Amino acid sequence: MFSRQRYWGEPIPVVNCERCGWVPLDESELPLILPEVESYEPTDNGESPIAKMTDWVNTVCPCCGGPAKRETDTMPQWAGSSWYFLRYTDPSCDYAIASPEALKYWMPVDWYNGGMEHTTLHLLYSRFWNRFLYDSGVVPVAEPYAKRTSHGMILGENGEKMSKSRGNVVNPDDIVNEFGADTLRTYEMFIGAFELSAAWSQEGVRGCRKFLERVWKLQEMVTDEDSYSKALVTRIHQTIKKVSNDYENLKFNTAIAAMMSLVNDFYKAGSITRADYRTLLLLLNPVAPHITEEISDRMGLLRGRVYQNAWPEYDEAKTVEDTVEIAVQVNGKMRGTLTIPRDSDRESAIAAAKEMLGTRLQGSIVKEIYVPGRIVNIVVRP
Ligand SMILES: [Zn+2]
Repeated sequence: MFSRQRYWGEPIPVVNCERCGWVPLDESELPLILPEVESYEPTDNGESPIAKMTDWVNTVCPCCGGPAKRETDTMPQWAGSSWYFLRYTDPSCDYAIASPEALKYWMPVDWYNGGMEHTTLHLLYSRFWNRFLYDSGVVPVAEPYAKRTSHGMILGENGEKMSKSRGNVVNPDDIVNEFGADTLRTYEMFIGAFELSAAWSQEGVRGCRKFLERVWKLQEMVTDEDSYSKALVTRIHQTIKKVSNDYENLKFNTAIAAMMSLVNDFYKAGSITRADYRTLLLLLNPVAPHITEEISDRMGLLRGRVYQNAWPEYDEAKTVEDTVEIAVQVNGKMRGTLTIPRDSDRESAIAAAKEMLGTRLQGSIVKEIYVPGRIVNIVVRP
């Protein structure tokens, strides 16, 4: 079923002639424009509101010149939504869908993202439209989208689709008023995997607000130094790598988790340098633009807007802890492995091994052997 008995829709450019039957309008008559009406409401008899516009409806047959009536049904919404992206390339073109130059320049769409609910019909229709137009020589590419992704739906707190009748609708304005726009943005990115549905959680919103407050309060522990803290340099390079890759792959939730974890490490360290803070703000800016701009401004951390600055770079070599895996033995028998700093001394290596063994280490210790970078062997007598 393609035609609809309502006003708002593209008119279907055909006429019904008593002699010739259904006849398409000549191309020179296109586009056919809707007539002006006083009332857009549906009629009592199920006819299109346009049917009353007899001046518009009564016309002549393009074929025989005899009396004919225009089709008064209109196209469904998805007729227009199947090719709007072509029109976007050249919205004021008055002689075609878009100029061939504009279509050649812009098409195909580099990256087309939409709701999961559109995955079947809208994609099927829009692709069909485009292929038809390609076969007709109107558009220059057979496939309309170079890359296509879908995001999951945000459900009500009860796990059901949000709707007025279910009373589970969350109004974003309320969240912005109570928690701020950055919290809403952060939470929406943090709520779950991009392509999966997720249920709203007010607790989760509060958690994101708390995270941003912790980012704000870091201002109180910034030193004058302007290179990465020695104790944090590995964590910072790891986080730049993780967040950069995650953003590229639409894994916003794990990117935010990585930044939360970095902020925890900042607090554990007790103080951070300007460089440490600057990198965090750059990474967080796409998710929480207002608070990061404000902090940068107050502390003079970055020139101009945060987003105008270069994305932080990481050094692969610095993402790897300088650690080594050693074997832990008791009386020469393997009991497990342990990762320790490569430059660990004998005492700390043996202490780490004992901690790992815990209550599995029984009897009295006769001898402790450490082969640097390879083995700790503890010899016990029962
Ligand atoms: Zn005719």
